[in-house]
Amino acid sequence: MQRPRILIIYTGGTIGMIEDPETHTLRPFNFDHLIDNVPKVRFLGYDIDHVQFAPPIDSSDMDPAKWGEICRIIEQNYSAYDGFVVLHGTDTMAYTASALSFMLDNLNKPVIITGSQLPIGEVRTDGEENLITALQIAAATRHNGDPMVTEVAILFEDYLWRGNRSTKMSADNFNAFRSNNYPQLARIGLGILFNEDALWRTPSRRPLNVRTDMDTAVTIVSVYPGITEEALRHQLSVPGVKGIVLKTYGAGNAPTAPWFEQAIADTTAKGVVVLNVTQCVNGSIHEGRYSAGDRLWRAGVISGQDITTEAAITKLMFLFGLGLGAEEVKHYLADSLCGEMTV
Ligand code: ASP
Repeated sequence: MQRPRILIIYTGGTIGMIEDPETHTLRPFNFDHLIDNVPKVRFLGYDIDHVQFAPPIDSSDMDPAKWGEICRIIEQNYSAYDGFVVLHGTDTMAYTASALSFMLDNLNKPVIITGSQLPIGEVRTDGEENLITALQIAAATRHNGDPMVTEVAILFEDYLWRGNRSTKMSADNFNAFRSNNYPQLARIGLGILFNEDALWRTPSRRPLNVRTDMDTAVTIVSVYPGITEEALRHQLSVPGVKGIVLKTYGAGNAPTAPWFEQAIADTTAKGVVVLNVTQCVNGSIHEGRYSAGDRLWRAGVISGQDITTEAAITKLMFLFGLGLGAEEVKHYLADSLCGEMTV
């Protein structure tokens, strides 16, 4: 039996941070420090290599160019490794997981993203267990020898979640992530119990197709009681904007004042794509259920169904990054590209 070959891509995040002696704040540190704190990794018996961001970053500084960097590392090393573990800060982990799921088209190897709430050097760290479990998941195979996981997934504490369904739920708990509209891909206990029915299976065996152009001419607008016409119109008219994630109440409802519908209709009439995404953590858009939602549909808004905000904004960046026009973007928004929404 060949030893599993895993590439760790260390981008930064709390997992590898140490305390700055002067300011007492946490800052990212290099990979050798991180791995020196997890001697158990050697007992796995895997061939592990690593690539490190220079310098490693707090994930608050993650951006589309760095997503491209991660994708290119995976592309260049795709045939040499069985799986990839991306070490990443938790703050923007769900955005990165969503973006990578779109950018790594035809992925049929595991890309497991993990990090931790406490630095790996701390006695009660969750980083050691997360790193080891992520490596085991990246090496896991099915009975026929194919990789168990063939998608971008987030491993955190007790669960493996689909990346483009995940959201950071807690700034404190070790179980910091959840996918509220999709079942867990695995439950971590004494063993790793995979939920095989929920795992993504690439329909074809086409070669990996990495697409790193992300168009950032997109934005997020959230409605709230008391929003004024001036505030709404201001946010909808960011110069050059092509796509807007409109975060609405419940099943996709928004204020029924005529000026609200008019402001949205004026925006879609300019060719801007407006995608309706619920502010709720669980459930889906049903625009026709209430007249407050029906008006948005009449104003040209597209239903985001049960997509997360993280997946919605990165999907817009990805589709416009492909150079598609508004009508084509709307067409792809209605469909699931890689399991990001229930169709
Ligand atoms: N600020 C950190 C980051 O996202 C938090 C973490 O890693 O948990 O990089």
